[in-house]
Amino acid sequence: MVDLQSQYHRFADQLNAAVQNCMADARFIKGPEVELLERELARKFNVKHCISCANGTDALQLAFMALDFPEGSEIITPSFSYAALVEVLHLLKLIPVYVDVHPDTFLMDETQIESKITDRTKAIAPVHLFGQIANMDQIRIIANNHHLKIIEDGAQSINAFYKSDSLEGYSSCLSDIGTTSFFPSKNLGCYGDGGAVFTDSDNLAFKIRMLSNHGQSKKYYHDTIGINSRLDTIQASILLVKLKYLDEFTQKRQEVANRYNSEFSEIQSITTPSNSTTSTHVYHQYTIRLSNRNERDALKVYLEENGIPSMIYYPLPLHQQKAYFQSVELPNTSYLCDTVLSLPICPELTTDNQQYIIQTIKKYYNLNK
Ligand SMILES: *Cc1c(COP(=O)(O)O)cnc(C)c1O
Repeated sequence: MVDLQSQYHRFADQLNAAVQNCMADARFIKGPEVELLERELARKFNVKHCISCANGTDALQLAFMALDFPEGSEIITPSFSYAALVEVLHLLKLIPVYVDVHPDTFLMDETQIESKITDRTKAIAPVHLFGQIANMDQIRIIANNHHLKIIEDGAQSINAFYKSDSLEGYSSCLSDIGTTSFFPSKNLGCYGDGGAVFTDSDNLAFKIRMLSNHGQSKKYYHDTIGINSRLDTIQASILLVKLKYLDEFTQKRQEVANRYNSEFSEIQSITTPSNSTTSTHVYHQYTIRLSNRNERDALKVYLEENGIPSMIYYPLPLHQQKAYFQSVELPNTSYLCDTVLSLPICPELTTDNQQYIIQTIKKYYNLNK
């Protein structure tokens, strides 16, 4: 699905130098690159604080630990998503309350949030799935009216930009706390695990930093129960190299997606992903919809036979997982689990390779005469 080897070769000189410098310097934990990266990320995304941590799941955990909701509090979040956020809620004894998603953008359906609010609701946690930002205008209005916090899971949407008449800013920087992941295959990936939390609040930033470092305000003075979640200096040095190219990576993904969109427009069975009117799309995934499950599964097998990887994000909704089961009807979510298919997309995908994918799919639908 992604070509991390080509990317390494393109930047090998800079990456090797950065890593060698860290090894020679030997400040593997909390080296100067970590602080520099946090500063650069905060500057790029125009947010007051960036706190790096060990992975995107920890970023979510730190966000919810800092907000310190009482046990049994309800958090409204989509079920059509990756499990990390809901896993964290369960670990912290918080209760996910699932809402459906829009079938065309795959994003949380903001019109269903209000009906799920009870006196135990404490927060709304949108996931900016596949690379677009959920409707933050409406989510912020609802949160304001009901005194709820907002936590954005931006693991798939780094560098996406939101713009409406009343709000603008980058993904994960549009609410109380936002998070992201530097997992290798994410749009800004390191060479191992990594993540970050963003906030404009001095108070929350202070808490998150303390929580990520064993609850210490000062070395060997533990004010609260925290965790150990740090971004390694080596990973930070790799991210500092790659961050310079994030805009270029984003643009290349958009070019790949635009080519898919125009080539697939003539294939009736394929529904290409819709663009939100208020968010740019950074295409962490390029996800199409087919008419039904059989057609989707058959196309996936055919692609595999022709050497083309494809993935189903996600085959089973969170509310139907063994670990997180809840009896709730989410028709769009179920429909999407049956019909979505994500195709290869990354900045390094060559036009030749993409043409092979497109022509193979067209052949399947008997269109390449
Ligand atoms: C990848 C991902 C995460 C978790 O990130 P890790 O760094 O793998 O822990 C969380 N949420 C979403 C939506 C993701 O895609």
